[in-house]
Amino acid sequence: MALIVQKFGGTSVGSVERIRNVARRVAKWRAAGHGLVVVPSAMAGETNRLIALAKEIQPHPDPRELDVVAATGEQVTIGLLSMALLELGVKAKSYSGWQVKIVTNSAYNKARIIAIDDAAIRRDLAEGQVVVVAGFQGVDEAGNVTTLGRGGSDTSAVALAAALKADECHIFTDVDGVYTTDPRIVPEARRLRTITFEEMLEMAGAGSKVLQIRSVEFAGKYRVPTRVLSSLTDPLITVAEEAQAGTLITFEDDPHMAMEKAVISGVAFNRDEAKITVHDVPDRPGIAYAILGPIADANIDVDVIVQNVGHDGMTDMTFTVHRSDYARAVKLLKGQVQPHIKCRDITGDERIAKVSIVGMGMRSHAGIAAQMFRTLAEEGINIQMISTSEIKITVVIEEKYTELAVRVLHKAFELDQA
Ligand code: ASP
Ligand code: MG
Repeated sequence: MALIVQKFGGTSVGSVERIRNVARRVAKWRAAGHGLVVVPSAMAGETNRLIALAKEIQPHPDPRELDVVAATGEQVTIGLLSMALLELGVKAKSYSGWQVKIVTNSAYNKARIIAIDDAAIRRDLAEGQVVVVAGFQGVDEAGNVTTLGRGGSDTSAVALAAALKADECHIFTDVDGVYTTDPRIVPEARRLRTITFEEMLEMAGAGSKVLQIRSVEFAGKYRVPTRVLSSLTDPLITVAEEAQAGTLITFEDDPHMAMEKAVISGVAFNRDEAKITVHDVPDRPGIAYAILGPIADANIDVDVIVQNVGHDGMTDMTFTVHRSDYARAVKLLKGQVQPHIKCRDITGDERIAKVSIVGMGMRSHAGIAAQMFRTLAEEGINIQMISTSEIKITVVIEEKYTELAVRVLHKAFELDQA
């Protein structure tokens, strides 16, 4: 008998019929003798609806009160799901985040989990209950309701799995796993049977949106094997079949991992960034800080950064920011930074895309970067910026070539071949 935490996303609990299906799926696992903690999101669209209501009253809602409102979506689904289980004759009991308690810091709207009191859950599990816990929400030390940021119920589930030392965390969603790239762009994209946490983090950072990035960090840190799988299959497929379905996110040393040995695991892309260049700044200590310090102080995240080799005591610095921060970043640089550092000009481009290849195999294979650059060159795609990590190579290119670049890279690294 294993202890399993199962998370169901908004689509999976999007209607009464779907909630009944979730209950059937959970009941099936329970009947096989496993201990189950189930974490539902709010019904699809509900969190958006609640936030919109709040904004009708206050265009910039008070953060504490916004969490009071936003957290209600999950309170509905835990109750409904418990009822659906009871209707099937399965003992079940629901808990809100503050009832558990899932203790967080006080950063409303984006709180971080500090501790989980698992006493009540363990007691119920020992009695054979299915324990249904609200995702996305917690409570701070002063007793205020908090939420974990959009998509936060992934993190709730993984954190519960970590606290309970669960054998596996199942994330049921509307896709059937993690793919080598977005199948809407490359129909030949394949579902990965396994991927490492490191790769998954790089894929998420590079634009793949399967899981909330923080949940992956959490799962990696606490070594929670996490499986992404579809809730849209027949809820009564066998437990044995479902236990192998989807994509298992795991560790390099997991024996399951050996089965997949491709050098590259996936191609990710992101069209949400914009590029800013600061031209002809004096090439001396402190200049990167003089440019990026004020950007950081304004809470603008910087992603790819490139500084050129100096020439005649001058250099250029280029970096990317989220597109929604682009105008603010340029204004800040022109207003506050340019007068001090006396650069020649500040220019930018919003029509860029970031395309990345990710894979553990890169560490032991030379020539991967060269192969990537050759593939892009053969299509006449100009590379504007390059950044690398141990297991990722990212290029910034003109946005209109995104799909082409993803397609040719997917093919060049044979990701279409099982
Ligand atoms: N219901 C929350 C949201 O829509 C949390 C989640 O679905 O993970 O962001
Ligand atoms: Mg979600």
